Amino acid sequence: MSDILQSINPYTGEVLATFPKLNEEAIDNAIDQSAKAFKEWSVTGIDQRCEVTKALAKLLTENKRSLAEMITREMGKPISESLAEVDKCILLVNYFAEQAPTILQPKKLPSDFDQSYLRYDPIGTIVAVMPWNFPLWQVIRFAVPTMLAGNAVMLKHASNVLGCGEFIQQLFQAAGYPLGSFRHLLIDSSQVEQVIAHPQVQGVTLTGSGNAGKAVAQLAGKYLKKCVLELGGSDALTITETADLDTATDRAFRSRMMNSGQTCIAAKRFIVHASIEEQVIEKLKALNESWRIGDPMDEETQMSVMSRTDLVDTVEEQLDKLIEQGAELVFGGNRKDNHFEPTLLRNITTDMLPFHDEIFGPVGVIVTYETEAEMVELINGVPFGLGSSFWTQDEAQAERVIPQIQAGALAINEMVKSSPKMPFGGVKESGFGREMGAEGMLEFTNMKTVIIN
Ligand code: NDP
Repeated sequence: MSDILQSINPYTGEVLATFPKLNEEAIDNAIDQSAKAFKEWSVTGIDQRCEVTKALAKLLTENKRSLAEMITREMGKPISESLAEVDKCILLVNYFAEQAPTILQPKKLPSDFDQSYLRYDPIGTIVAVMPWNFPLWQVIRFAVPTMLAGNAVMLKHASNVLGCGEFIQQLFQAAGYPLGSFRHLLIDSSQVEQVIAHPQVQGVTLTGSGNAGKAVAQLAGKYLKKCVLELGGSDALTITETADLDTATDRAFRSRMMNSGQTCIAAKRFIVHASIEEQVIEKLKALNESWRIGDPMDEETQMSVMSRTDLVDTVEEQLDKLIEQGAELVFGGNRKDNHFEPTLLRNITTDMLPFHDEIFGPVGVIVTYETEAEMVELINGVPFGLGSSFWTQDEAQAERVIPQIQAGALAINEMVKSSPKMPFGGVKESGFGREMGAEGMLEFTNMKTVIIN
């Protein structure tokens, strides 16, 4: 393997930067520094931790434009989406800086002792193996609450967004976090084991593919480290016969096409009542015609390139296979360099790829149903369970369906969205554990029961 990691602009093909990989000794030194930083940070008062976190929010605000440009240059999403990503991070950082003292407050427990309560103590350094699709958001949403709880964090970022990783580290340092308490490690995936194995490291979180998740979960098992996984999905967006069709199709199209289809909670299967299939298709066609595709740095662009050539290759192969199996192309289907057109397929059956794998590109598929029981089976008929979006104006139907859907997040008459205020994560092969909300913040804490007589 090469000793150099490269960041390449997927729109221009330009090599943006090269980074020397850390060797074994340098990784150990970084972990030693993390251990020192943890000693200091874990006993820093919560008010001071919140102050430093607020300083980070300020720095994110001041650096919004350059951060957004770095995201767009490295992974190709439109600049408007990158700016929105930075904004969402600022919201999250401020939210947790406000809420941390309440969430981390010890809780009284009922017992037979004079006093008993539950504390949430930090546990050490937590490794974050992160993807490239939201290169700022995925890191911030994990690192900020985890560090407010007193832990240190080491980031192994995806190898195509290392400039983002370096930028994030600079901001944590400038905000006043102790040196080494947030560390971006320039390593490849084969070096992750050395980090997880170290006794200072007490947990690992990964966002990414099922394969990467299984590899990291195996290491977590081998070294007995706590593990949180946020993996992919093949989320359903269901349009029933009573749905508000204009809004439902608009959200279906946006959810599927944003970030060139490279979003874990994108609506990847449109489950549509057979009686309205033609109407849904007409509306999706109209949305497709108005979609602006182009240079990701142009503020008007709604969709640009996918993030790496191999990712476009995969989607192209998946599409060819689906068509070979009998899927019908409604629109799109063409690829040029790293661009992949917004694409819609119909005539999809449950033996086809969208029912057992993730399509991580701008390809939506329509599956039709006749009865409610059939619809629920289609929604749940995948190995994943990340999000699900359900469109109906029949409240009784919504009440019936809500408990039956196997997903970590269910949105009725809305697309699936994450929020710092709510825990986020999946079931089945979409992973386990939660990020964000109080539950996410407490994932990597020692919930210590204390009794006093
Ligand atoms: P990966 O899941 O391979 O990469 C995500 C992160 O995991 C990266 O930091 C990667 O490092 C790391 N990683 C990969 N394999 C290992 C391993 N064996 N041990 C430790 N770390 C590892 O995603 P890809 O970029 O290859 O994308 C492939 C597919 O994954 C996509 O098409 C999509 O289906 C899915 N995916 C899903 C995401 C989601 O949000 N659900 C996000 C990203 C991808 P490195 O970059 O160095 O390989």
